[in-house]
Amino acid sequence: MNQQFDILIIGGGQAGRCAAQAARAVRPDARIAILGDEMHLPYDRPPLSKDVLHDLANSAACEKLSAAQFTDERIEVRPGERATAVDKTARVVDTAAGHRYRYGQLILATGSRVRRLPLPRELDDDVFYLRTRDDAHRLQPRLRAGANVAVIGGGFIGLEVAAAARHHGCTVTVIDLADRLLARVFPDAASRRVLAMHRAAGVDVRLGARIARIEQGPQVGVRIALQDTAHPVHADLIVIGIGVIPNTELAQQAGLAVDDGILVDAYGRTDDPYIFAAGEVTRHPVEGRSGLHRIESWQVAELQARAAGATAAGEPRRYDDVPWFWSDQLGVNIQMLGHIPDAPVWVMRGTADGAHSLFAFDADGRVTGAIAFDAGRDISALRRVLAKNGRLDPIALADPKVSWRELMG
Ligand SMILES: Cc1cc2nc3c(=O)[nH]c(=O)nc-3n(C[C@H](O)[C@H](O)[C@H](O)COP(=O)(O)OP(=O)(O)OC[C@H]3O[C@@H](n4cnc5c(N)ncnc54)[C@H](O)[C@@H]3O)c2cc1C
Repeated sequence: MNQQFDILIIGGGQAGRCAAQAARAVRPDARIAILGDEMHLPYDRPPLSKDVLHDLANSAACEKLSAAQFTDERIEVRPGERATAVDKTARVVDTAAGHRYRYGQLILATGSRVRRLPLPRELDDDVFYLRTRDDAHRLQPRLRAGANVAVIGGGFIGLEVAAAARHHGCTVTVIDLADRLLARVFPDAASRRVLAMHRAAGVDVRLGARIARIEQGPQVGVRIALQDTAHPVHADLIVIGIGVIPNTELAQQAGLAVDDGILVDAYGRTDDPYIFAAGEVTRHPVEGRSGLHRIESWQVAELQARAAGATAAGEPRRYDDVPWFWSDQLGVNIQMLGHIPDAPVWVMRGTADGAHSLFAFDADGRVTGAIAFDAGRDISALRRVLAKNGRLDPIALADPKVSWRELMG
């Protein structure tokens, strides 16, 4: 097969879909296709570690566009089609199936893959990762009451898996090398709150735990030996959530600028005039911060990808949203907005029912971001503050009797 597309997208995830839709809105007559190496139509991943792990019947919640809707939008999706090479001079993409596609504009939306641990093959049946819809469908049936589940990695995915496993009545142990949960993204107070939530729900959280060995258990399952303790963790299954690796190989092979992500400007443009990149695989500018950043979030897959898609289609669109992320664990909604790490000053605003937010202030007394626990309203208000001048009176902010209307004057 040797075909020509005006706009060709590699990667059939959320970013691939969003880039395609944005491109379609700009160019009604363009021939647009998505090549995706999974056997599914593009879908969103956040429900996988939440609703889908609760009940596989929720799996359809991942699909934002049905096959009929892709047809209506005249976006050709080719599942199971893995791109293997990009020739940026000839503007041609080759695939593993031996197909060759010519493109006018190319959008790389290849996302990430999970980081794996080298483990003995005999453990395969009891070792799980969670990235794809197929991963969720494989894991969910094993989360049954009484099952012993060990989660390696206390990041967002690991903690959402732990919460889902508790929901099903599993015994759950979370093992993390760091001395606190979510250490990379959360300040100490927020880490402590998440730890308390999980311990109160019966999750055995082992922090500062260095794994010495993972091997087959004496009878069944898996035995995880930890350094500094003679008591190994025994589990029927282990779920590994230790981060992701961006799928940059194609971009690298094509000779694009790559450094822990495909380097793009605020419009999703790479250093080749005909190639753009979208979603989690990119390192892009972030409003209010210097340098380029790779951010693993729904927001980037949705909105940065829409900007890149529109730009590729000929209508340059900037992506400059303030970073936002959410997670749902143990019935608590956690949201983060803005710039969090390393803030010198934190101010807490809480209500009697336990809902609260932690606000980050910089050295100039300007609020830069917040983490909210069941307090989405604080996030909405903060958006408006950040859009104005970032000025908030920290003493009034800490007093829940002072309303947001009063705070914003
Ligand atoms: C379980 C889970 C839960 C999450 N929950 C949240 C949440 O609550 N909140 C939040 O903000 N974010 C969440 N995220 C993050 C968010 O979903 C991701 O950042 C988003 O999926 C990234 O989308 P993407 O399209 O850029 O990349 P991906 O989703 O990785 O999609 C890229 C696609 O391209 C395919 N591909 C790669 N190489 C090729 C090739 N050579 N040829 C063809 N196809 C290729 C890949 O197989 C994949 O299908 C979650 C992620 C996961 C995994």
